[in-house]
Amino acid sequence: MRGRIVLIEDEKDIVELVRYNLRKEGYELESFGRGREGLEHLRRHGADLVLLDVLLPDLDGFEICRKLRSEERLRATPVIFLTAKGEEFDRVLGLELGADDYVVKPFSPRELAARIKAVLRRKEPPTEKVERIQLADFSMDTGTLEVTVRGQKAELSALEFKLLHFLASHPQHVFSRERLLDAVWGRDRFVTPRTVDVHVRRVREKIEVQPDRPRYLQTVRGAGYRFVPEPGREADAQ
Ligand code: CA
Repeated sequence: MRGRIVLIEDEKDIVELVRYNLRKEGYELESFGRGREGLEHLRRHGADLVLLDVLLPDLDGFEICRKLRSEERLRATPVIFLTAKGEEFDRVLGLELGADDYVVKPFSPRELAARIKAVLRRKEPPTEKVERIQLADFSMDTGTLEVTVRGQKAELSALEFKLLHFLASHPQHVFSRERLLDAVWGRDRFVTPRTVDVHVRRVREKIEVQPDRPRYLQTVRGAGYRFVPEPGREADAQ
């Protein structure tokens, strides 16, 4: 068994297509045609991943995603939206709500399986902890909690260090605020996505030459934040 997937979708053809193909791939699939039923099931039994239609007869997919993210037990469960072609899908809202990905109907079973695999892989804890990050003019040491930028020590709080270390351990990877909350603050948190913005600003003030024009810790509009290890590549241009 590769994982337990819950599908909340009211179109029977899609349910059958997904069921057939995911079972073939070795997943266990349970499906619900109504949002409330699906949500109840998830509250009782949880899941490894949720596939979520946007337009449902009762609760819509966004509402369900919002509820999942507000519940301790389900907060970290990966969500992939299934959206209809031509249906206005607010990608930014989806990401803000903490969705991990989305696929547009009609999708090929192979594409869906690949997205599921990728999302589940991202959720796995890293097997090897990065102890030291060493770049040309940037280093972090998890043993001493020291950050050195351009030869200068930066004094980060433990939480700021954890946030920067997480981003720097996944260079170029864009993380939504929700993902950062899960990864850095953990599940027992009483904080909002704005908390991430505040901490990013503080880290920038400590490591960036121009905090309002960050080179390392960059904003990706509408998506989140990322760490860029070789900002600008000015050296290559010469
Ligand atoms: Ca629908």
